[in-house]
Amino acid sequence: MMDLSDRINRLSPSATLAMSQKSSELKAQGIDVINMSVGEPDFNTPDHIKEAAKRAIDENFSRYSPVPGYPALRNAIVAKLRAENGLDYAPTQISVSNGAKQCVCNVVMTLVNPGDEVIVPAPYWVSYPEMVKMADGTPVIVHAGIDQDFKITGEQLESHITEKTKALILCSPSNPTGSVYGKDELKALATVLARHPQVYVIADEIYEHINYVGHHESIAQCEEVRDRVVIINGVSKAYAMTGWRIGFAAGPEWLIKAANKLQGQYTSGACSVSQKAAEAAYLGPQEPVEEMRKAFERRRNLIEKLAKDIPGLEVNHPQGAFYLFPKCDSFYGKQADGRLVANADELAMYLLEVAHVACVGGTSFGAPECFRMSYATSDENIVEAMRRIKEALAALR
Ligand code: PMP
Ligand code: GLU
Repeated sequence: MMDLSDRINRLSPSATLAMSQKSSELKAQGIDVINMSVGEPDFNTPDHIKEAAKRAIDENFSRYSPVPGYPALRNAIVAKLRAENGLDYAPTQISVSNGAKQCVCNVVMTLVNPGDEVIVPAPYWVSYPEMVKMADGTPVIVHAGIDQDFKITGEQLESHITEKTKALILCSPSNPTGSVYGKDELKALATVLARHPQVYVIADEIYEHINYVGHHESIAQCEEVRDRVVIINGVSKAYAMTGWRIGFAAGPEWLIKAANKLQGQYTSGACSVSQKAAEAAYLGPQEPVEEMRKAFERRRNLIEKLAKDIPGLEVNHPQGAFYLFPKCDSFYGKQADGRLVANADELAMYLLEVAHVACVGGTSFGAPECFRMSYATSDENIVEAMRRIKEALAALR
């Protein structure tokens, strides 16, 4: 450890990826584990997208791509933002990267100076505070419990802003809670931000299309903050393309140019073939997106109903993404077969080892009273997983 940089020693490993790996290891030993840990669609990438990638290989899209992304893909993203979000961007305001994850990281690295504060509402996606720490910034966590549907209010935001605040990272629909900020709620945040012109908004909208309220609202649509918002989105979730690694950032041109400079020294342009696939995703038929969304909505209804039937768990009504984030602290301090469950991580480990269901404890999402289940899996798996969880939790006394 001593020879490692302080920066890397400060960093926590990704709990979502770690739990998924643990579940794969148990599976490899022949144990029938239901993996609800990692968040990724269980669907295959639609055929027309795969065909576009095959064509790209045959047409020799095999060389370094431009650092900000191919112009054709950036044009397709511009068209998407206009048609779906009513937002006007120039292609120079778009930066394509190796997944939305790299986009968030690029923007954080581009904006944050040592000592700058970045407001991260909790529950948060595990990587946000770690990215802020990587940039030597200070994550400022604002807690929102289940009683407020895990969403922060304008007053809470206001009370955490200082002269050092550089940005807010907002995720809607949210990983891990499934909560969706409505127009009025975004407006309340934008009204506060209007009084603090030094604060940028990193709006992670990767779950835009996995939405059960009928339409997506972006904080970039609020005039007060429009010029200070960087939208993060990509093809991973909507088009079942997690492995293709294509995301984008859309924001002020000077900031995007700087993010491209970072990317140019760090990873270069994103994978050429994947970019051609992403272009087909944005320009091609959108029916597969809606079909997958409907399947996720059906599963949301199923898992929510089953979770409500488990004594000791408390759930919100998730309006998007594909996660359920039950409050489970009523079980802390209980035991089964001499095994004590003291906290969320121990509960997740208990469920993995006893019920053979892989979930992720809430601690690394900034909510130690909860745990996360991804319901991007078959209805049969959901029913069986919830049966096992119910039985395992009932054994705790
Ligand atoms: N943001 C959130 C909230 C996510 O859940 C994920 C999923 N990993 C990402 C960003 C990153 O997506 P990508 O696979 O495109 O890097
Ligand atoms: N976003 C997914 C999750 O939260 C993928 C894992 C990751 O990138 O951390 O499970």
